Amino acid sequence: IDDPQNIGDIIRHQGREIPDDVAFEFEGDLMTFRDLDRRSNRAANALASLGVSKGDRIAYLGKNSHLYFEIMAGAAKLGAVMTPVNWRLARPEVAYVLNDCQAKVLFVGPGFAELVGDIEGQLEHVAKIFGAQGPEENFASYPDWRDGFEDSDPLAECAVEDDAIQLYTSGTTGHPKGAILTHGSIFSSRMNDRNEDELMEWQKTVPGEVALLAMPCFHISGTGYGLGTIFSGSKAVVLPEYDPTQALDLIENYNISKIFMVPAAIQILLNHPRIHEVDFSDLKYITYGASPIPLELMKRAMEVLGCGFVQMYGMTETSGTIVTLDPEDHVPEGSPKMRSVGTPLKDVEIKIIDDSGNTVPAGTIGEIATRSPKNMKGYWNRPEATAETIDADGWLRTGDAGYLDEDGYLYIQDRVKDMIISGGENVYPAEVENAIYAHPKVADVAVIGVPDQKWGEAVKACVVVKEGEELSEAEVIAHAREHIAGYKCPKSVDFIPALPRNPSGKILRKDLRAPYWEGKDRAVN
Ligand code: ATP
Ligand code: MG
Repeated sequence: IDDPQNIGDIIRHQGREIPDDVAFEFEGDLMTFRDLDRRSNRAANALASLGVSKGDRIAYLGKNSHLYFEIMAGAAKLGAVMTPVNWRLARPEVAYVLNDCQAKVLFVGPGFAELVGDIEGQLEHVAKIFGAQGPEENFASYPDWRDGFEDSDPLAECAVEDDAIQLYTSGTTGHPKGAILTHGSIFSSRMNDRNEDELMEWQKTVPGEVALLAMPCFHISGTGYGLGTIFSGSKAVVLPEYDPTQALDLIENYNISKIFMVPAAIQILLNHPRIHEVDFSDLKYITYGASPIPLELMKRAMEVLGCGFVQMYGMTETSGTIVTLDPEDHVPEGSPKMRSVGTPLKDVEIKIIDDSGNTVPAGTIGEIATRSPKNMKGYWNRPEATAETIDADGWLRTGDAGYLDEDGYLYIQDRVKDMIISGGENVYPAEVENAIYAHPKVADVAVIGVPDQKWGEAVKACVVVKEGEELSEAEVIAHAREHIAGYKCPKSVDFIPALPRNPSGKILRKDLRAPYWEGKDRAVN
């Protein structure tokens, strides 16, 4: 395809070149590239009839479906900007995101009519809600935006530097922020087919290949994955939400060869009672990322699933993946490199900086900064946050602490915001957690900093004890002392029934910290 300007051009191209190939399969419903092209025209015309034009935000609140991509493609053809909303959020949070992005039109998937009914009065910009009024049983009765609209292409002008998709960050460290991704940043991260011979094996698309879209489209993991299959002209089977039983069933019966999963999803899959009965021979690659993966889990996944693995590191603000640990670096017996997230993709620069922004040498921990065409344009309506995150030269501060080794492999240490400063020393919770996790009676652990008169902050461990076991504070501290320096060891331990996590499996340390910091300011915040 010559010089595409926007996602719409890609949809048009695929609709012309491979009209009869299936783009998406959802609950038995097939959508070809011709369908995607025509129906997205209707969605675009429906939006235009409501006065939506270039640069306007529209939103989708619903579980994954092929209709999400139809609407997104329709918005792109009009130059409007799709914002998928995390349906796991509580009502006030959904209202917050819809008001923050100023969505003019809201598409609602099955099961969310009641939620929307409850917050409708608080929505400041939404002029029209599609979908929510119909019967809720299935998607077939849903596309009311298609009825009565032409399938002629609106052919709106829209260039690579224009806004394409607005995705909210996961809210692990604070309020979710709207990251603006342009058509160009999406192209940069999804146009793998441009120079086929430079691609790594796992990046290539084989004709007839089927991918499983199992992660949520309200994160870059799901949206990016679906865009990737559209761009490469392959088929994606879409799960409304991750379910290990369904995933195994699809792997068995649909020749699935690729999946992206977060580590928590891999763990759930491996614990499924049918795991050893399933034939995984069609599965070629599992890509994974979004949170750290325990080495033991990785080794088990390699043994049981027997496919290639690729770890990905990235964030919403970088349109997803910027660093990968390739299959060759995954060895069954484990290796030091498997503690890293790998090396940067071809057009990605990575550097590690200190507090003053100076680059530090290999082996030294600092904040990870990155520059590439994949970087977002900025945060929506947050000029200060944007200026704090992206500098004049285009370097984006990730908020993650880490280091590069001599071979250029990147190791993630922790979130900068989660770092504990105790008696002037930096303590990275992940290191302390790994030490405590090694205790045979510990099921789960999170480490936080709590206010302390003497040390400024003191290290506290929040421990979930394995069922039927007993463990004391003194035992946890003594165990940590055997593995890590004294100043890193917890001064106190809370025993709790479960850790707060978000759907990607990320530990919400801010929630654990909150009761201790009420009315006080943290130095790192
Ligand atoms: P918020 O920015 O709202 O606090 P968030 O940072 O969790 O939430 P995302 O953009 O979804 O939102 O996640 C990006 C973050 O996920 C990265 O900054 C990093 O901390 C973490 N992450 C991503 N990939 C990996 C990986 N392979 N290993 C460890 N951590 C990862
Ligand atoms: Mg973040």
